[in-house]
Amino acid sequence: MIEIKDLHKSYKMGTNSLHVLKGINFEVSEGEMVAIMGSSGSGKSTLLNILGILDEADKGSYHLDETLIKNLNEKVAAKYRNKFLGFVFQSFNLINYKSALDNVALPLYYQGVKRNIRMEKALHYLDKVGLADWASHLPNELSGGQKQRVAIARALASNPKVLLADEPTGALDSTTSYEVMELIQEINDEGKTILIVTHEDDIAHMCKRIVNLKDGIIIDDSLVDQVRVKSLENV
Ligand code: ADP
Ligand code: MG
Repeated sequence: MIEIKDLHKSYKMGTNSLHVLKGINFEVSEGEMVAIMGSSGSGKSTLLNILGILDEADKGSYHLDETLIKNLNEKVAAKYRNKFLGFVFQSFNLINYKSALDNVALPLYYQGVKRNIRMEKALHYLDKVGLADWASHLPNELSGGQKQRVAIARALASNPKVLLADEPTGALDSTTSYEVMELIQEINDEGKTILIVTHEDDIAHMCKRIVNLKDGIIIDDSLVDQVRVKSLENV
Protein backbone atom coordinates (compact mmCIF):
# COMPACT_ATOMS: atom_id res chain seq x y z
CA MET A 1 0.00 0.00 0.00
CA ILE A 2 2.77 2.39 1.06
CA GLU A 3 6.43 1.88 0.28
CA ILE A 4 9.11 4.45 1.00
CA LYS A 5 12.79 4.06 0.34
CA ASP A 6 15.68 6.18 1.58
CA LEU A 7 13.53 9.26 2.04
CA HIS A 8 15.32 12.51 2.84
CA LYS A 9 13.88 15.92 3.59
CA SER A 10 15.57 19.18 4.51
CA TYR A 11 14.08 22.58 5.19
CA LYS A 12 16.06 25.49 3.86
CA MET A 13 16.19 28.54 6.05
CA GLY A 14 18.24 31.30 4.47
CA THR A 15 21.69 29.89 3.96
CA ASN A 16 21.10 27.14 6.51
CA SER A 17 19.37 23.87 5.95
CA LEU A 18 17.76 21.62 8.53
CA HIS A 19 18.05 17.93 7.65
CA VAL A 20 14.84 16.50 9.17
CA LEU A 21 14.44 13.08 7.54
CA LYS A 22 17.73 11.27 6.95
CA GLY A 23 16.93 8.10 5.10
CA ILE A 24 13.57 6.65 6.07
CA ASN A 25 12.60 3.18 4.85
CA PHE A 26 9.33 1.46 5.57
CA GLU A 27 6.38 -0.32 4.10
CA VAL A 28 2.78 -0.40 5.19
CA SER A 29 0.42 -3.13 4.00
CA GLU A 30 -3.30 -2.92 3.57
CA GLY A 31 -5.18 -3.17 6.87
CA GLU A 32 -2.31 -2.12 9.13
CA MET A 33 -2.72 0.36 11.96
CA VAL A 34 0.61 2.06 12.50
CA ALA A 35 1.70 4.64 15.05
CA ILE A 36 4.51 6.99 14.08
CA MET A 37 6.11 8.03 17.33
CA GLY A 38 8.88 10.37 18.31
CA SER A 39 9.51 13.46 20.40
CA SER A 40 8.44 16.90 19.27
CA GLY A 41 10.51 18.05 16.31
CA SER A 42 11.57 14.53 15.33
CA GLY A 43 9.98 14.87 11.89
CA LYS A 44 6.71 12.99 12.36
CA SER A 45 4.54 15.62 10.69
CA THR A 46 7.12 16.10 7.95
CA LEU A 47 6.91 12.38 7.18
CA LEU A 48 3.11 12.31 7.34
CA ASN A 49 2.87 15.36 5.06
CA ILE A 50 5.04 13.60 2.48
CA LEU A 51 2.91 10.46 2.76
CA GLY A 52 -0.15 12.70 2.37
CA ILE A 53 1.27 14.30 -0.80
CA LEU A 54 1.09 17.66 0.92
CA ASP A 55 4.87 17.95 0.65
CA GLU A 56 7.59 16.21 -1.32
CA ALA A 57 10.83 14.56 -0.27
CA ASP A 58 14.20 15.78 -1.59
CA LYS A 59 15.48 12.29 -2.17
CA GLY A 60 14.19 8.72 -2.12
CA SER A 61 11.04 7.17 -3.47
CA TYR A 62 7.44 6.94 -2.35
CA HIS A 63 4.97 4.48 -3.85
CA LEU A 64 1.32 4.70 -2.88
CA ASP A 65 -0.80 1.80 -4.09
CA GLU A 66 2.00 0.95 -6.53
CA THR A 67 2.00 4.44 -8.02
CA LEU A 68 5.25 6.41 -7.83
CA ILE A 69 4.51 9.74 -6.18
CA LYS A 70 7.00 12.14 -7.68
CA ASN A 71 6.99 15.61 -9.23
CA LEU A 72 3.21 15.75 -9.35
CA ASN A 73 1.62 19.03 -10.28
CA GLU A 74 -0.97 20.32 -7.81
CA LYS A 75 -3.93 19.10 -9.87
CA VAL A 76 -2.63 15.52 -10.05
CA ALA A 77 -1.55 15.61 -6.40
CA ALA A 78 -5.08 16.70 -5.44
CA LYS A 79 -6.52 13.87 -7.51
CA TYR A 80 -4.36 11.28 -5.73
CA ARG A 81 -5.15 12.79 -2.33
CA ASN A 82 -8.88 12.60 -3.07
CA LYS A 83 -8.68 9.09 -4.37
CA PHE A 84 -6.35 7.50 -1.83
CA LEU A 85 -6.13 9.55 1.35
CA GLY A 86 -8.23 10.81 4.22
CA PHE A 87 -6.78 13.30 6.70
CA VAL A 88 -7.44 13.94 10.38
CA PHE A 89 -5.65 16.74 12.22
CA GLN A 90 -5.10 17.67 15.86
CA SER A 91 -7.10 20.88 15.46
CA PHE A 92 -9.99 19.21 13.58
CA ASN A 93 -9.87 21.77 10.71
CA LEU A 94 -13.64 21.96 10.35
CA ILE A 95 -15.29 24.86 8.58
CA ASN A 96 -16.96 26.87 11.33
CA TYR A 97 -19.89 28.27 9.37
CA LYS A 98 -20.89 24.89 7.92
CA SER A 99 -22.96 22.24 9.68
CA ALA A 100 -21.47 18.90 10.70
CA LEU A 101 -23.24 17.32 7.73
CA ASP A 102 -21.93 19.92 5.25
CA ASN A 103 -18.39 19.50 6.64
CA VAL A 104 -18.55 15.76 6.01
CA ALA A 105 -20.03 16.29 2.54
CA LEU A 106 -17.38 18.81 1.45
CA PRO A 107 -14.79 16.37 0.02
CA LEU A 108 -17.58 14.77 -2.01
CA TYR A 109 -18.53 18.18 -3.36
CA TYR A 110 -14.96 18.64 -4.58
CA GLN A 111 -15.18 15.26 -6.26
CA GLY A 112 -18.26 16.36 -8.15
CA VAL A 113 -20.65 14.00 -6.36
CA LYS A 114 -24.28 15.11 -6.84
CA ARG A 115 -25.90 16.88 -3.93
CA ASN A 116 -28.46 14.25 -2.94
CA ILE A 117 -25.89 11.47 -3.10
CA ARG A 118 -23.26 13.38 -1.16
CA MET A 119 -25.78 14.30 1.56
CA GLU A 120 -26.83 10.68 1.81
CA LYS A 121 -23.22 9.51 2.08
CA ALA A 122 -22.33 12.26 4.55
CA LEU A 123 -25.23 11.25 6.78
CA HIS A 124 -24.14 7.61 6.56
CA TYR A 125 -20.64 8.49 7.81
CA LEU A 126 -21.94 10.86 10.49
CA ASP A 127 -24.12 8.00 11.70
CA LYS A 128 -21.11 5.70 11.66
CA VAL A 129 -19.26 8.00 14.08
CA GLY A 130 -22.37 8.24 16.26
CA LEU A 131 -23.37 11.79 15.35
CA ALA A 132 -26.39 11.48 13.06
CA ASP A 133 -28.43 13.50 15.55
CA TRP A 134 -25.90 16.31 15.36
CA ALA A 135 -25.98 16.72 11.57
CA SER A 136 -27.38 20.25 11.55
CA HIS A 137 -25.15 21.57 14.32
CA LEU A 138 -22.24 23.92 13.75
CA PRO A 139 -18.76 22.93 14.96
CA ASN A 140 -18.86 25.45 17.83
CA GLU A 141 -21.90 23.63 19.19
CA LEU A 142 -19.91 20.38 19.44
CA SER A 143 -17.44 19.13 22.05
CA GLY A 144 -13.82 18.47 21.08
CA GLY A 145 -14.46 14.75 20.83
CA GLN A 146 -17.53 15.32 18.66
CA LYS A 147 -15.57 17.67 16.38
CA GLN A 148 -12.91 15.02 15.90
CA ARG A 149 -15.62 12.47 15.09
CA VAL A 150 -16.98 14.81 12.43
CA ALA A 151 -13.45 15.19 11.06
CA ILE A 152 -13.09 11.40 10.98
CA ALA A 153 -16.43 11.07 9.16
CA ARG A 154 -15.22 13.69 6.66
CA ALA A 155 -11.97 11.79 6.14
CA LEU A 156 -13.91 8.57 5.50
CA ALA A 157 -16.56 10.11 3.24
CA SER A 158 -14.65 9.53 0.03
CA ASN A 159 -13.75 5.98 1.10
CA PRO A 160 -9.97 6.53 0.98
CA LYS A 161 -7.53 3.62 1.00
CA VAL A 162 -5.48 5.15 3.80
CA LEU A 163 -6.39 7.32 6.77
CA LEU A 164 -3.61 9.65 7.91
CA ALA A 165 -4.00 11.24 11.34
CA ASP A 166 -1.57 13.79 12.80
CA GLU A 167 -1.92 13.83 16.61
CA PRO A 168 -5.68 13.17 16.37
CA THR A 169 -6.00 13.08 20.17
CA GLY A 170 -3.56 15.92 20.84
CA ALA A 171 -6.27 18.43 21.72
CA LEU A 172 -8.47 16.03 23.71
CA ASP A 173 -8.58 14.91 27.35
CA SER A 174 -7.64 11.29 27.94
CA THR A 175 -11.18 9.90 28.25
CA THR A 176 -12.18 11.56 24.99
CA SER A 177 -8.88 10.52 23.39
CA TYR A 178 -9.62 6.90 24.20
CA GLU A 179 -13.14 7.18 22.77
CA VAL A 180 -11.71 8.58 19.54
CA MET A 181 -9.10 5.80 19.47
CA GLU A 182 -11.85 3.23 19.98
CA LEU A 183 -13.61 4.62 16.90
CA ILE A 184 -10.35 4.52 14.93
CA GLN A 185 -9.79 0.90 16.03
CA GLU A 186 -13.27 -0.01 14.79
CA ILE A 187 -12.54 1.64 11.45
CA ASN A 188 -9.32 -0.37 11.22
CA ASP A 189 -11.24 -3.55 12.15
CA GLU A 190 -13.23 -3.02 8.96
CA GLY A 191 -9.98 -3.14 7.01
CA LYS A 192 -8.97 0.49 6.59
CA THR A 193 -5.23 1.16 6.59
CA ILE A 194 -4.41 3.77 9.23
CA LEU A 195 -1.29 5.76 10.13
CA ILE A 196 -1.37 7.84 13.29
CA VAL A 197 1.28 10.31 14.37
CA THR A 198 1.46 10.63 18.13
CA HIS A 199 3.98 11.38 20.85
CA GLU A 200 1.86 9.61 23.48
CA ASP A 201 2.83 6.09 24.43
CA ASP A 202 -0.66 4.95 25.46
CA ILE A 203 -2.13 6.11 22.15
CA ALA A 204 0.67 4.40 20.19
CA HIS A 205 -0.06 1.11 21.97
CA MET A 206 -3.64 1.24 20.72
CA CYS A 207 -2.16 0.68 17.26
CA LYS A 208 -0.79 -2.64 15.98
CA ARG A 209 2.67 -1.45 15.07
CA ILE A 210 4.90 1.34 16.33
CA VAL A 211 7.49 3.09 14.19
CA ASN A 212 9.84 5.16 16.31
CA LEU A 213 11.56 8.18 14.80
CA LYS A 214 14.60 9.84 16.30
CA ASP A 215 17.03 12.33 14.82
CA GLY A 216 15.64 11.76 11.35
CA ILE A 217 15.84 7.98 11.21
CA ILE A 218 13.67 5.06 12.31
CA ILE A 219 15.27 3.64 15.45
CA ASP A 220 12.61 0.98 16.02
CA ASP A 221 9.77 -0.58 14.04
CA SER A 222 7.84 -3.28 15.89
CA LEU A 223 4.53 -5.06 15.97
CA VAL A 224 2.88 -4.62 19.37
CA ASP A 225 0.05 -6.25 21.26
CA GLN A 226 -2.73 -3.83 20.47
CA VAL A 227 -4.42 -2.41 23.55
CA ARG A 228 -8.15 -2.50 22.84
CA VAL A 229 -9.88 0.56 24.23
CA LYS A 230 -13.02 -1.50 24.86
CA SER A 231 -11.08 -3.73 27.22
CA LEU A 232 -9.89 -0.84 29.39
CA GLU A 233 -11.68 -0.19 32.66
CA ASN A 234 -12.74 3.26 33.83
CA VAL A 235 -12.63 4.73 30.36
P1 ADP B 1 7.14 16.69 14.73
O1 ADP B 1 5.84 16.59 14.00
O2 ADP B 1 7.77 15.38 15.03
O3 ADP B 1 7.02 17.54 15.96
P2 ADP B 1 8.00 18.24 12.43
O4 ADP B 1 8.03 17.30 11.29
O5 ADP B 1 6.85 19.18 12.51
O6 ADP B 1 8.19 17.44 13.78
O7 ADP B 1 9.32 19.12 12.40
C1 ADP B 1 10.62 18.58 12.34
C2 ADP B 1 11.63 19.73 12.34
O8 ADP B 1 11.49 20.48 11.13
C3 ADP B 1 11.43 20.73 13.47
O9 ADP B 1 12.70 21.17 13.89
C4 ADP B 1 10.66 21.86 12.82
O10 ADP B 1 10.94 23.08 13.44
C5 ADP B 1 11.20 21.83 11.40
N1 ADP B 1 10.21 22.27 10.41
C6 ADP B 1 8.99 21.71 10.21
N2 ADP B 1 8.34 22.32 9.20
C7 ADP B 1 9.17 23.28 8.74
C8 ADP B 1 9.09 24.26 7.69
N3 ADP B 1 8.01 24.34 6.92
N4 ADP B 1 10.15 25.10 7.53
C9 ADP B 1 11.24 25.01 8.31
N5 ADP B 1 11.39 24.10 9.30
C10 ADP B 1 10.37 23.25 9.53
MG1 MG C 1 3.96 17.31 14.39
